[in-house]
Amino acid sequence: MPEILTTVEAMRRWRKSRMSASQSVALVPTMGALHSGHLALVKEALCRADRVVVSIFVNPLQFGPNEDLSRYPRTWDEDLSRLEELGAHAMFFPSESEMYPNGPSATRVEVMPMSSVLCGRVRPTHFQGVTTVVAKLLNIVSPDWAVFGEKDWQQLTIIRQMVEDLNFPTEIVGVPTVREESGLAMSSRNWYLSEGERDRAAAIFQGLQAAKARYASGERRKSAIRAAVEEVLATAAIEPEYVEVVHPRTLEESAELLQGPVLVAVAAPVGRARLIDNIMLSKT
Ligand code: AMP
Repeated sequence: MPEILTTVEAMRRWRKSRMSASQSVALVPTMGALHSGHLALVKEALCRADRVVVSIFVNPLQFGPNEDLSRYPRTWDEDLSRLEELGAHAMFFPSESEMYPNGPSATRVEVMPMSSVLCGRVRPTHFQGVTTVVAKLLNIVSPDWAVFGEKDWQQLTIIRQMVEDLNFPTEIVGVPTVREESGLAMSSRNWYLSEGERDRAAAIFQGLQAAKARYASGERRKSAIRAAVEEVLATAAIEPEYVEVVHPRTLEESAELLQGPVLVAVAAPVGRARLIDNIMLSKT
């Protein structure tokens, strides 16, 4: 059974005793409703560190005023048994008042301009909420590694930038996206989908794969790569919020003639869920 730690003080004490025992620690930050994508992060953490702590905290700071904070799925009992099965050592499960004892904290951490592009256009305060809570978690746990999913590519890139800029002594590890058999990226927000919507949502990955195939066959026009995704989405009646072709590290929009590293990122509403996914076309 993972040790359950609900206060910052208890978490710090746990970390201190690991330090005294010369044990390395990896942190996996999550908002719970754990699925196989999260579990892949825990497995990666277990491969690297002597001890693994998984945090479960539905962070209000990263939700906008009209977003799904109140209906976000919460499945804590199941989460705990999944973590036990996997052999995670500790679960950090703080309350909102434990994390933000002074209410929504006045101190914010923000990485610009990366936080204002892609999802940041529609969710202007989202990444500030993410970087603020991740900075707090890194300070509370002091892990040697912190593990994040590539599904949330923009988040991963912003966190890497924050850790570099603010000299956090933690190595950030990215884990490839875990998918359903249909190709749909696993997400806690897939809970909101009906069966029919789940089938339609698979078009997001199919669209990304179509873009990859065009790029592999020599296509280098950004507009054609975007069109490849949009055509497939249209067949499933999905109107994307964006389909963007960007540099995977800076998140800057690519020029029309694609050169160097290229990533395609998509956000699209399906039913009540807002889904995101991405694919790397070229790492170099
Ligand atoms: P969340 O609980 O949605 O905030 O996600 C917690 C962590 O799990 C983040 O680092 C996500 O990128 C990662 N994650 C979520 N879904 C997946 C997935 N399908 N594959 C890999 N990692 C994922």
